[in-house]
Amino acid sequence: MADKKSQKLIENEALMKEWDWDRNNEINLKPGDLYVGSNKRVWWKCNRNHSFEKSIRDMIAKPQCPKCKEEILSLFPKQITKNQHYVQQKYLRQWGVDENKKQTYCSHNYNESVPIKSICQEKYFYKIEPINKTEYNFIVDLISVFPDKNKIEEYIKVLKYYLYLNDFNFAGTEFEKPVEDLYAQTGEEITKIHEEVLSNDIIDSLIKCDDDFMLNIEKKYSLLSYAIFQFFRTKKARNKLQDNIKNIISNGKLTDLRPAVISKHLADIFGNMTVDTLIDHDFHILFLKNKNNTFITSDNPVFVINEIDLDKIDDFLYIVSPSLAIIISTNKNYSGIKTISDEEVELINNLVVDNSNTCIISNSLSLLKKYKHKQL
Ligand SMILES: [Zn+2]
Repeated sequence: MADKKSQKLIENEALMKEWDWDRNNEINLKPGDLYVGSNKRVWWKCNRNHSFEKSIRDMIAKPQCPKCKEEILSLFPKQITKNQHYVQQKYLRQWGVDENKKQTYCSHNYNESVPIKSICQEKYFYKIEPINKTEYNFIVDLISVFPDKNKIEEYIKVLKYYLYLNDFNFAGTEFEKPVEDLYAQTGEEITKIHEEVLSNDIIDSLIKCDDDFMLNIEKKYSLLSYAIFQFFRTKKARNKLQDNIKNIISNGKLTDLRPAVISKHLADIFGNMTVDTLIDHDFHILFLKNKNNTFITSDNPVFVINEIDLDKIDDFLYIVSPSLAIIISTNKNYSGIKTISDEEVELINNLVVDNSNTCIISNSLSLLKKYKHKQL
């Protein structure tokens, strides 16, 4: 067989399909005179009628039309929110210390205030993660033990979508990065829409802690979803899930499973399930008012306060602002409004420190320093 490079261009059917006869004729280029291995720059025309110039050798290596490629890439997001917050900035601004509420005190820096946009965030935290068949089966098995079969069917439908996405494998191609960005941006946008629907001035209403709040069913559910999603979506919650999955994997000697990916999906599913369970059991909210504005918060602002008891549903403590915390519980003793003492505030602040992941946040530097020694 003749060397491929010494093949006459006119004999190469695939290349000849894209030969731009008009433009090459203008400059007197004839495919019968040229060889496949040539460096000569000639004109090509793609099947969408874009005319472009490329050497014959490059056309063999990369037969793609540059204009088509540009058009495809232009469909992908250009502005990506790389640093995605797992604790809402709007929430953190309750602890803002400057006029514009853009700075706060955080235990990453005991000398001066830090920008709120720099804390409680991780690169691509909400990125959509396609799953493989093994991961799909693993998650389906894990959630099948829960009683609400209708709900589980819904989650499985969503999981199927992530399994489907996995078939489009762009790894190693020029589309790998744009697709990753698209997944990151889409994940962030879904979260933003979700937050806007849920938060809907919820913090403002909460702070007023009027009795009407609990009578408004929509607001009551909105608050519950808001708090529970915050509970499941932090770095700490994900790490905890990830550790549990690692244990199951190593005990069962399972392969082809990525704990980081699985924990992301489970955090979403468990968030939804917990909200549904609490609604089914009719929950109550106790408002804890702190007249001195001295509640601190952390990168994990919602946490469980009762001892783990499988027969009972957890009670959640949510620090809403420096002057307000709430307890969400199915126990009806936890309802109404209570103004709490300095000792009780201190007790709650100690719980915040114990349940933090990497940092605690305060509106006062001296207050932050007071809890410095307690941090892990
Ligand atoms: Zn083209």
